[in-house]
Amino acid sequence: QEEITRRSQAMDKNDTSDLRKFSRQAYLQKRRDKKIDEIRDEILDHEYIFQDVKLTEAEEKEFRYKKKIYDLVKEHVESADDVAEYKMPEAYDMGDSVNQEKRFSVAMQRYKDPEARDKMNPFAEQEAWEEHQIGKSKLQFGSKDRKRSSDDYQYVFEDGIDFVKSSVIEGTQHEEDSDQEDIDEKDMLKRELQDERKTLPIYKFRDELLKAVEEYQVIVIVGETGSGKTTQIPQYLHEAGYTAKGKVACTQPRRVAAMSVAARVSQEMGVKLGHEVGYSIRFEDCTSEKTLIKYMTDGMLLREFLGEPDLASYSVVMVDEAHERTLSTDILFGLVKDISRFRPDLKLLISSATLDAEKFSDYFDSAPIFKIPGRRYPVEVHYTKAPEADYIDAAIVTVLQIHVTQPPGDILVFLTGQEEIETIDEILKHRTRGLGTKIAELLICPIYANLPTELQAKIFEPTPEGARKVVLATNIAETSLTIDGIKYVVDPGFCKIKSYNPRTGMESLLINPISKASANQRAGRSGRTGPGKCFRLYTSYNYMHDLEDNTVPEIQRTNLANVVLTLKSLGIHDLVNFDFMDPPPSEALLKALEQLFALSALNSRGELTKTGRRMAEFPLDPMLSKMIVASEKYKCSDEVISIASMLSVGNSIFYRPKDKQVHADNARLNFHTGNVGDHIALLNVYNTWKETDYSTQWCYENYIQVRSMKRARDIRDQLEGLLERVEIEISSNASDLDAIKKAITSGKNGSYRTVKNPQTVLPRWVIYHELVLTTKEYMRQVTELKPDWLVEIAPHYYQLKD
Ligand code: ADP
Ligand code: MG
Repeated sequence: QEEITRRSQAMDKNDTSDLRKFSRQAYLQKRRDKKIDEIRDEILDHEYIFQDVKLTEAEEKEFRYKKKIYDLVKEHVESADDVAEYKMPEAYDMGDSVNQEKRFSVAMQRYKDPEARDKMNPFAEQEAWEEHQIGKSKLQFGSKDRKRSSDDYQYVFEDGIDFVKSSVIEGTQHEEDSDQEDIDEKDMLKRELQDERKTLPIYKFRDELLKAVEEYQVIVIVGETGSGKTTQIPQYLHEAGYTAKGKVACTQPRRVAAMSVAARVSQEMGVKLGHEVGYSIRFEDCTSEKTLIKYMTDGMLLREFLGEPDLASYSVVMVDEAHERTLSTDILFGLVKDISRFRPDLKLLISSATLDAEKFSDYFDSAPIFKIPGRRYPVEVHYTKAPEADYIDAAIVTVLQIHVTQPPGDILVFLTGQEEIETIDEILKHRTRGLGTKIAELLICPIYANLPTELQAKIFEPTPEGARKVVLATNIAETSLTIDGIKYVVDPGFCKIKSYNPRTGMESLLINPISKASANQRAGRSGRTGPGKCFRLYTSYNYMHDLEDNTVPEIQRTNLANVVLTLKSLGIHDLVNFDFMDPPPSEALLKALEQLFALSALNSRGELTKTGRRMAEFPLDPMLSKMIVASEKYKCSDEVISIASMLSVGNSIFYRPKDKQVHADNARLNFHTGNVGDHIALLNVYNTWKETDYSTQWCYENYIQVRSMKRARDIRDQLEGLLERVEIEISSNASDLDAIKKAITSGKNGSYRTVKNPQTVLPRWVIYHELVLTTKEYMRQVTELKPDWLVEIAPHYYQLKD
């Protein structure tokens, strides 16, 4: 206990020597998990075999350095042959078995580059990190003026996780709400949700807000995340009678947010989810005749325009999280602005968590801005002293540091995606396991788009007394979801950002640094219920000089084919003069037109064709919808919608348990018999599953994720319904694989890549579903094709190209 208090004081005082010790622990752990044998071998090599070899000065230094590390580590190893017996010299031993540690290193490796995991040395990443550290320490090694007799290996951690407190983001409102103060925490929990609603910052402005809505057609609403915009405003509108005239729509950029918020609001209103309050996301409609308040993704509202161009069934449209500026939100802006002109009864609310509301107001003809003063406490921002080589590792160490040194309060860690979250989840569980009562319980709660709904609810459950919750989240927790009780934020400074190269037509989803605006939003998450702390895993120099001010709106960095198709089907032909808040690059617009032309969705005058009209009915990427529409010609719609559903599920069909990878790979190979290509293999998986009467057992036996398969089945059912709508008969042509492949090829659109040095022997011509850019470019879902098919399928395009 004393030790913890001391360390906690040290952390507060920014006395880094203690923190360095923590880092050293982590380092030693890393070291022992694999390096000992290797280093020993190397040292033996040098000492006995290469005795006569003259080393250069640099090699000599490195060797001496490694020997020193080896000796240090060896001290703690009871027996050099039984590394597993290693004992940590102090408390906080976060691990218990070397083998398990090794597996986690592999997990880390995998997260960086899943495809290469088997080809590469599983420890390459670790080694790279170590080389990096060694490289730096070598520099130090040579500087004789620094004496390091007492702490020989301290220099390895020059950039351990030493944080420098650098700035305090001031709170916006310090005085407490008087009626809040005397409510003690336990009471709060017991109170009805209705009372809880009244404590939200927005509550005081309820009547004023409703008055403004009555008075103006369009309002821009700005309020700190958590002030109650998303959950309360639609309810206020309902209470004020707006739902008597039509539904209230509230759009969200993210699926998870739409679902979770709808669930919350249905609870608050005491109704069943899907009745008065529902949600609608792609492939999942949880609404009914009764539904009055409808939370939906922005993409879904966009699609509703196709069936109801004036949104006649709605009385209010709230475009929420407008600051996110997703592609669909930006397009919605143009469309709702347009219909508001001829539907004066339609109310428009544009709500945003950031302060650049003027831009929204300007765009909507100087709409009034309604500000909800938030409650926000000061947040202490800490930066690392030096850049971190591996932010995953740094995040883990920081979470543990906070856990053992800081006062109660939950932790929120921002990560870039599911894989990262799963990796950290696993490592944290492993490191805290077996510590028993040595440290307080650490509850780990992941949240990302594909997390099953039951588990999503977990992040909102109050943390039991004495425990600490750590939420591992994607960007979704930046503004869309508010989790109460967060006091510490760990911000590695990255997120996945989509980018698009209109020249090659290649889209990629890459891990990129966040913007300053994002960094500040993230920091703010820690100061909602009291003063907070934010640990940025980058330096203040990085923040000042390397981060952009704002994230570029998605419309300027994405493939527009889908949007262009939607707009064309809405009868909007003049895309260049469409009222964009920020117009997309004209190159990207042209490329989209070209792609749609190649797919025969547009004719040479840029007008929608019958094929294009049919394609627009499917809530899919134009390439997939074209493949479905083309299946009519090849009489294989049955097979093609199965393939499209499987592709829509994403990369979560197969799984490879770490201890059964060979089995899993063999099971997977079975579906490829006859070298049929990945698309047909997916079809085989689906059909075999269907033959087993959708058996869960069969999925287990074949290393296939049941959840993904069920989702594929749902999607398939919906696609089947849509086939009927565009009057394509369901027909099966299972024996003619070439016909199926031709339909698939029809969905490809003239973007091509030349592969220079394929690692495996590839056929000369292949189609791929996705191009993934990780450390290298990878094609996912590949099928061989015959080049003359291209001319057969799209003569108008390929002949032109010649
Ligand atoms: P805003 O949209 O202004 O960011 P919200 O309306 O999303 O604010 O959140 C208001 C409050 O409702 C927050 O305190 C949050 O904790 C709570 N809340 C929101 N969604 C949920 C949920 N799914 N479960 C539990 N509480 C929730
Ligand atoms: Mg919100």
